[in-house]
Amino acid sequence: MKIPFLDFTYMHSGLREEMIDAFAEVYDSNWFILGKKVDAFESEFARFCGSRFCAGVSNGLDALKLALMALGIKEGDEVIVPSNTYIATPLAVSFVGAKPVFVEPSLKTYNIDPDLISDIITERTKAIIPVHLYGQACEMEQIMDIAHKYKLFIIEDNAQAQGAMFNECLTGNWGDINATSFYPGKNLGALGDAGAITTNNSEHYEKILALRNYGSKAKYVHDFIGYNMRLDEIQASFLSVKLKKLNDWNKQRSEIAQRYNEMLDGVGDVVLPKLANKATHVYHLYVIRTKYRNKLQKYLSDQGVCTLIHYPIPPHLQNAYSHLNYSKGAFPIAEELADTSLSLPIWPGLNLKQIETISMHIKAFFSAQ
Ligand SMILES: *Cc1c(COP(=O)(O)O)cnc(C)c1O
Repeated sequence: MKIPFLDFTYMHSGLREEMIDAFAEVYDSNWFILGKKVDAFESEFARFCGSRFCAGVSNGLDALKLALMALGIKEGDEVIVPSNTYIATPLAVSFVGAKPVFVEPSLKTYNIDPDLISDIITERTKAIIPVHLYGQACEMEQIMDIAHKYKLFIIEDNAQAQGAMFNECLTGNWGDINATSFYPGKNLGALGDAGAITTNNSEHYEKILALRNYGSKAKYVHDFIGYNMRLDEIQASFLSVKLKKLNDWNKQRSEIAQRYNEMLDGVGDVVLPKLANKATHVYHLYVIRTKYRNKLQKYLSDQGVCTLIHYPIPPHLQNAYSHLNYSKGAFPIAEELADTSLSLPIWPGLNLKQIETISMHIKAFFSAQ
């Protein structure tokens, strides 16, 4: 049985007609940029996050860049990011001219370790970007306390965790401005690139509306050196259709994770995902760890099971960051995670038989070690 890493068939087959109708409506409207569909999706996604405002933008990286720019973060500033995140998080910081300062994650949750943040704050530190990695909410109360104490901005990177909660408050609603991505493979995915910011602050919201659209509030009047970082009507119309399913799909992801947890408990040296107190997880990814990672991945691939590694090289060891002069060993936890993590298939529609097959192959692999 061949099992892909991600399969949209189940999610998309039930929505086919609605999606094609949504496309037809935009097609026939002759209105493609910043119109009714973007407005509608923005209200719906704001409601989903419990936020006052949402602005649709071009993708998750641009959402992070817009958040940083709207908060005035610039050259000479430092921004704290986890050492084990996807490269987009530090790249956004670099694009506004600021310096990403890495903090190690907790080995339990893989999210930024709040206990390590205070020590690296300097007078240049302006913001923290907690990343709700793999779909688990960061320990936001402790992070917010640090932000208040040192007067730092918080920008949540909520690309992987739409619908997750910490202490019953949704991600995407804690920070000053929060960024998310609707890259197709995310829990809420467009049929192309798309992203959004959410905020409860009307000034930040207005600034981002202008920044995403040539620095303009009124047509042909430009108040800032702005960008073209807009969400388009077609993607917004698709996102509105898919958003209605997001809670169901997240629930399914969580059930699949529970199945894996039961079946893989105690197998070999496998470390299963663990939750922080008060955190929920929407399982964008189901990540296990083993020191036999490379061999296991090869074995599963030979059995037809596709897995991926999130992420094989931490940002500080990427060539893009060679100018920061970090060598191997600088962030041992991030490096350990890069060497041992393996993401198993998880998507709404992955059935029990497939979960059993994957688990059985993993057990067979370890019984031969
Ligand atoms: C996907 C992702 C992004 C970037 O989103 P794009 O829409 O691909 O630009 C940023 N941060 C994290 C944690 C992500 O997973």
